[in-house]
Amino acid sequence: MRILFERFSAAPAGPAIFIDRDGVINRRRPGDYVLEWSQFVFMPGIREALRRLSTLRLPMIVISNQAAVGKGLLEAAALKAMTVQLQEVLRGSGVVLNAYYYCTHRSDEGCDCRKPKPGLLRQAAAELNIDLPRSIFIGDADTDVQAARLAGCQPIMFDPECRYRTERADWMKNIATARDSDELVKFTVKCLQATSIVAAIPEGMSW
Ligand SMILES: [Zn+2]
Repeated sequence: MRILFERFSAAPAGPAIFIDRDGVINRRRPGDYVLEWSQFVFMPGIREALRRLSTLRLPMIVISNQAAVGKGLLEAAALKAMTVQLQEVLRGSGVVLNAYYYCTHRSDEGCDCRKPKPGLLRQAAAELNIDLPRSIFIGDADTDVQAARLAGCQPIMFDPECRYRTERADWMKNIATARDSDELVKFTVKCLQATSIVAAIPEGMSW
């Protein structure tokens, strides 16, 4: 499912910041899905972090698995309504996300868009003219890192609860891992600078 809010000029193809939803923008609900807006709780500092990233003026696109739809727990229309509500609240905080791409399939459906598969990233890149090798994918799980790698973009881990701190697995080595939303902004900008996307840090983004 694709929900497009803000178009952007994309000729020639440019980089984007892809963002996972559950665990990055809002808290995960252990063992459960976010089925209604009242269950949507923002991660600490994430709105300010996204606002600062918005000043880079790169397309920002949410990439998220929402199998609750495929399981019949959440109507597609309700997911859409929740997304509109999220977009409104973020806009009030000065954050502009351009589009949301959801995989609504169950894991047993064998689709090619459910992360760790890279289908959603590739679809967004094709439809919105995005250069994947110069793009960043911010996620909170190994499946996000895998999807980023398969699509050829740079993974950044957001792990404020240190879920992976004790046993840092092989797949996490050499991946920038932000412990809070300030680090998330820093690492994202650093990563973009490494690929020469952001020549200079925009005004008002000093730290
Ligand atoms: Zn899918």
